[in-house]
Amino acid sequence: MSRRILLLGGTSEALRLARRLSPEAVYSLAGLGRVPDDLACQVRVGGFGGAAGLAAYIREQSIELLLDLTHPYAAQISANAARAAELSAIACWALRRPGWRAGEGDDWREVDNWAGLVAALQNFQRPLFTLGREPLEHLHEIPLHQHWTLRCLTAQEAVPRAEIIGARGPFALDGERALFARLGTDVLISKNSGSQSTEPKLQVARELGLPVVLLRRPLLPSVEREFLSLEALAEALQL
Ligand code: NAP
Repeated sequence: MSRRILLLGGTSEALRLARRLSPEAVYSLAGLGRVPDDLACQVRVGGFGGAAGLAAYIREQSIELLLDLTHPYAAQISANAARAAELSAIACWALRRPGWRAGEGDDWREVDNWAGLVAALQNFQRPLFTLGREPLEHLHEIPLHQHWTLRCLTAQEAVPRAEIIGARGPFALDGERALFARLGTDVLISKNSGSQSTEPKLQVARELGLPVVLLRRPLLPSVEREFLSLEALAEALQL
């Protein structure tokens, strides 16, 4: 397909697709993670300044198709993408990765927000947070009976009653088993990202009979075409 594409990234699927794009396409990243330097397509980093800023970029760069492959919890950029496509009268296609589903032996508890999370953790001592950066803002609120472990992209110095591990997926099952054992984890906290690369932690929780507290997915806008898999999207793009 020769349409000029703007691909909004931030997921492993986005990077995989970006590797297949030609030089006239643009791959856009917020700038929180690694920026690849070995792609044939153009790479840009940083926000656009809301939906209006994104629409202006689309016009300036003569973008003809917007692809939203951002993370399912990155609700703001997905809302901006849908709105900007509307404002610019171009199509927006999105990869809407399905969430994980609880199976036999799972004890999953869904919460809506941080307050719900704190309440759900009340009876636990050694929570393992795999939610990204949000818990970093709450390190001064750790209840006296708890020791937290946070796993996010960048390590930080430990604070009283909390360890902050920096790690990027994919995570292998054996490594996850060893981590839970070392920490004495009694509850896992996660987003329901649906990503295969972070799924092994759920298997470990299942094996150990541990509850998993999941932050509910945000609502995302409907766009012109939505795909459940990268393969289906790539096929529609003839890539
Ligand atoms: P967000 O709240 O939806 O977006 C915040 C702002 O970041 C957006 O309004 C936009 O700024 C900018 N932005 C986000 N993605 C961008 C992109 N691909 N290119 C250019 N600007 C972008 O997103 P977030 O939850 O902070 O996540 C930031 C990025 O990390 C996203 O790209 C997402 O895919 C990725 N990520 C998020 C999570 C998660 O759990 N939220 C997990 C893994 C990866 P302007 O309004 O100025 O344009």
